[in-house]
Amino acid sequence: MKADLQALGVYRADSSLKGKLRRRLARLVHRRPAVRRPDRPMVTFAFDDTPTSAVQRGGPILERRGVRGAYYFCAGLAGEDGHLGRYATREDMQRAADAGHEIGCHTYSHLDCGQASGAMVADDLERNAALLSDWGVAQRLQTFAYPYGDVGFAAKQQAAERFVLSRALQHGLIEPGVDLNQAPAVGVDGWDGEAIASAWLAKAARRRAWVILFTHGVEDKVTQFGTSADVLGRLVDKALTMGFEVVGAAEGAQRVGPLGLRAAR
Ligand SMILES: [Zn+2]
Repeated sequence: MKADLQALGVYRADSSLKGKLRRRLARLVHRRPAVRRPDRPMVTFAFDDTPTSAVQRGGPILERRGVRGAYYFCAGLAGEDGHLGRYATREDMQRAADAGHEIGCHTYSHLDCGQASGAMVADDLERNAALLSDWGVAQRLQTFAYPYGDVGFAAKQQAAERFVLSRALQHGLIEPGVDLNQAPAVGVDGWDGEAIASAWLAKAARRRAWVILFTHGVEDKVTQFGTSADVLGRLVDKALTMGFEVVGAAEGAQRVGPLGLRAAR
């Protein structure tokens, strides 16, 4: 199954009342609540779909500051051209993994998990893991981002069985009681992304909570689908100055989740 690269840029999760209700109801099942606060506020810098620019430009911005990010790969997009530019290749993935960044799962085909059957979701997740492993990414995929943020019961069960954290799209902080299997996150794409990220960093600092900031590409200038090298650098600097610990998503989940939490497969 190949993702429709043209559709990827414009497609949105089902925004009907039914779609919204499905995501709300999914919050009630297969829950894994966070149980602790971290010692210091935490932030994760995540990159979805992983265009080449996120690895080649975003990676060094984090590395120069002594921190690492989390890349959510769809192996089915690797090397293809899309609205985000060229998607990361096998070599980009290896580079990110070798540099110590977390490699996360975003399905093989950028599958909309909202209405897909459990078997379809399982197949797509297994395919992504198998291909990344074949490509020499040695680390196990421990965390997941739902494509388009859409979640259904069957998909949530499949993700909960495999990952220590699965991220949806609703804005929020991760603190005790918040479900790690449908975790909130804050998108920082676009021209208002820096202001949005700054506001959430301030909230997370006040509450000593964990916030996941995610974007897609990292270009010279901010775009609708990504951020700029300058903005990313400023946000990392700001977080460090404010006393945040910058963590990968798996590391963050271990810190705040139930004791002994680890990916099952
Ligand atoms: Zn995506």
